[in-house]
Amino acid sequence: MTTLFLSHPSSFDHDTGPGHPERPDRIRVIDQIFEHERFQMLHRALAPGNDRTAILRVHPAHYIDEIEAAAPSEGRVHLDPDTILSPGSWQAIVHGVGGATAAVNEVMRGDAKNAFVATRPPGHHAERALPMGFCVFNNAAIAARHAQAVHGAERVAIVDFDVHHGNGTQEIFWSDPSVLYASTHQMPLFPGTGSIDQRGEHDNIVNAPLSAGADGSIFREAMETAILPRVTAFQPDLIVISAGFDAHRLDPLANLNLVEADFAWVTTRLMEIAERCAKGRIVSILEGGYDLEGLARSAAAHVLTLMGASKS
Ligand SMILES: [Zn+2]
Repeated sequence: MTTLFLSHPSSFDHDTGPGHPERPDRIRVIDQIFEHERFQMLHRALAPGNDRTAILRVHPAHYIDEIEAAAPSEGRVHLDPDTILSPGSWQAIVHGVGGATAAVNEVMRGDAKNAFVATRPPGHHAERALPMGFCVFNNAAIAARHAQAVHGAERVAIVDFDVHHGNGTQEIFWSDPSVLYASTHQMPLFPGTGSIDQRGEHDNIVNAPLSAGADGSIFREAMETAILPRVTAFQPDLIVISAGFDAHRLDPLANLNLVEADFAWVTTRLMEIAERCAKGRIVSILEGGYDLEGLARSAAAHVLTLMGASKS
């Protein structure tokens, strides 16, 4: 059983402009580190393109059409101060969705043990009809819905260790007991949501905010006490990871002090849970991570851990 790595060159054509932290080099450094021989066994595939049916399970038709219409033929358009479309953005965005759904297909069919999708822009801030925080379509949410609609998954857990709270994913699943959304994130920090008392209509939202300066031991304790027991009790058929690496100590957008070993640790713990209730099925989707060295090394630790399962 293999670990699948999905990406697409259109990720390089989403041009957010000079100085923007969410930039093509993020994918470039991940591609470079995966060239190392340690990743020889990684099964690489191109993310397929537009899957409107999959997007429609999360985002309304008018919103999809508005985004496609907003993409400029030249220059750049600001959807908000941080969220930008360039001529290449639409293809990048739909290949991000395609990567997420293709990963779900392979993992749910048992053709891959688990998968990591590295595309941009990220997705977890995107609400049903609102682009936000670099995000346009919510790839993790679309992956969860796709697993339910196409592969009969009854319960999907989305675990989000990006340093920012996934307000979009929380909004999308607020009233849906079939999806557990569980997040660690720095607070206070953008986008401002994610307090412990935000629990969803069916107690299906779990927020574990961390204070600025928190290190790996505090992160692990929050995972051990607040998040992992809830994921275990939920008995998901699939775990989707919103894999942001901006809680790394080097990251310029936040102030947590995680290191690569912390990302490897949480990956191992989630794999243990997935083995017990979900046949090991994990689909991990890149979210943030803005220090290129911290991002590349953290993604490498995460994926090497995922590949460890593929040997058993
Ligand atoms: Zn983030």
